[in-house]
Order: sequence, then C-alpha cells, then structure tokens
Amino acid sequence: MRSGTVCRGLGGVYEVETPEGVVEAVLRGRIKREERTGEKVVVGDRVDVDEDRAGEGTVWSIVKVHERTTVLARKAPGKAPRPKAIVANVDQVLVVFAAANPDPHLRMLDRFLVIAASSDIAPVIVVNKTDVAGMDAARALFAPYERAGYTVHYTAARDGTGVDGLREALCGRLSALAGPSGVGKSSLLNAVQPGLGLRVSEVSQAVNKGRHTTVTAQLIPLECGGWVADTPGLREVGLWEIEPDQLQFYFPEFEPLLGDCRYPTCTHTHEPGCAVRAAAQSGEIDAGRYDSYQRMFLGEDEE
Ligand code: GDP
Ligand code: ZN
Repeated sequence: MRSGTVCRGLGGVYEVETPEGVVEAVLRGRIKREERTGEKVVVGDRVDVDEDRAGEGTVWSIVKVHERTTVLARKAPGKAPRPKAIVANVDQVLVVFAAANPDPHLRMLDRFLVIAASSDIAPVIVVNKTDVAGMDAARALFAPYERAGYTVHYTAARDGTGVDGLREALCGRLSALAGPSGVGKSSLLNAVQPGLGLRVSEVSQAVNKGRHTTVTAQLIPLECGGWVADTPGLREVGLWEIEPDQLQFYFPEFEPLLGDCRYPTCTHTHEPGCAVRAAAQSGEIDAGRYDSYQRMFLGEDEE
C-alpha cells in the first residue's frame, strides 16, 4: 500500500504520484460504485493505492480517497446544475494580471478573488509586466488590494523581477492559476521553471478543444516540490453557487464594518445607515471594490 496524489486521469486510469514514483491506478470496488453516484476521483485527490498481482505485471488500484481540504468545482450541465469537482486540495489560486498591456480589468480580478474565497482557497495576486507600467504605477494601482489584506507579488517575466519570490510562493503547494490571456502567465511559469509554462498552456489548449467531451485538469509537477494545476477557466467555477447574502464575507475589507450597519439584514446596496456604503463614499473602502460587490450582488455579468 502507498499513498500519493492524483496528477492526471484519463479513461478511468489515474496517474498517482507517490514518494516511490508515479504509478497508474484504476478504481476498485466501492470507490468505483461511488463514482457512478457522482463522488468522483479528481486530480489533486490524496489517495491510497494497493497492488494486485493479476497474472502479468502489477496492477494498482485506488482503494481509498482521503477527505479533501478544498474543491474547485464547476457547474455541471443539466436542468438542475450541480457542482462537479475539477481539482481537489488546491492550496492557493494565483490570480495573474498585467500592470499594463493589457490594462488590468480590476472588476474581473474581484470576481476571481470572490471565487477563491468562496472555495476557501487563499488567493495570491500577481501583477506582471511591471517593467511596462513602471513599479510605482503598478503599486499604486494595486494598493487597495494590499490595504484589503491580499498578498500581492509584483513581477516582470521579461527581466526576472519578483520571480524568486513567486517561485517561493509556489514551491511545496498545489496552486491553480487564473487570469486573462496575454498577461504573461506562461512567461512567468517559464521564468520560475523552464518549460513549465509551455506544458501548462499545451494542456489548456487540449482541454479547451475537449470542451464538449470531458473537461479535465492536470497537475504539472514543480522541481522544488508541489504542483501547478492546469484547470479549465476559473470563470466557469464558483460564482454561480454563491448566495447573495454570503457575498459580503468574501470582501475582507468589509469585515470590520459589518456590525455597524443600521439594519442587521443590510445588503450594503441601498439601505440607509449602511456602514459599508459610507466607507466606500469616504474612500476608506476602495470605490471600485464596492462597485464590484454591487454588481456581483445584483448578478450582473461581467465580460
Ligand atoms: P499568457 O497568455 O498569460 O500566458 O501570456 P504570455 O506568457 O503568452 O505573454 C503574453 C505576451 O506578453 C508575450 O508577448 C510575452 O513576451 C509578453 N510578456 C510576458 N511577461 C512580460 C513582462 O513581464 N514584461 C513585458 N514587457 N512583456 C511580457
Ligand atoms: Zn450595510
């Protein structure tokens, strides 16, 4: 018996990374029946595998799936949408934007941050292309996020700025990546570890082509330990599941104010005596962040 992490699954065969090397394993018995009822093994799952000596060679079976710390799920198609797990045990979501070229779409950043928070996954903001915008301008643009308590890395894949710090943040963890195209995600991953960005983007393309068949994810190993998860767009993940009255808890800067509204059921959108709205008006809370909250509360689509 060995324990390991599922890195890839294809056609019912799972690659499991164990301390003694990678093995291919299939589902057995009870777990296989659970899969039919929807409780699937996904990449990131910590599993126990056992070997069966059946005739020629060794066949490994997944005999136990450990409890998940986190689950990134997407909406499964159908009349009554259910969450469908894509990756288990993600430790952090790296949300990558460029400081310029393209200009950062901060309302989209806010949505990613809410998705991570609602999945109980720590978000890390990466601001790339600081060489284009200038470091001071980049820091000014993302200052509200630092004030709200987020971890922000300032990088330039082009000249290596911030790459060591980013590598340190990735090592030993399972990270998922989010952010629009063209911001330098592949370039940054390649700067962290040669070839890493290429592998992740190749998987992405394969995944996108397979949109109507299976949407799978894969874990790409880091030399320093840990993995980068290549997941189908995080945009499909999470937000649809959030109840409007829960949204306030996913904006960390609202937290100290939530007891100060006049009405305990305040939605922080229009009520008189709302401490959150007052803070947005006085500049204590960033107006853009508050605008994002209102849009998400009202269920407005952001593209
Ligand atoms: P992705 O779509 O997010 O994976 O972005 P890419 O890594 O493909 O990068 C998009 C473009 O931005 C490429 O032309 C890169 O060379 C360029 N790029 C990436 N990082 C930087 C950076 O830090 N500074 C500058 N000036 N250009 C960058
Ligand atoms: Zn309020």
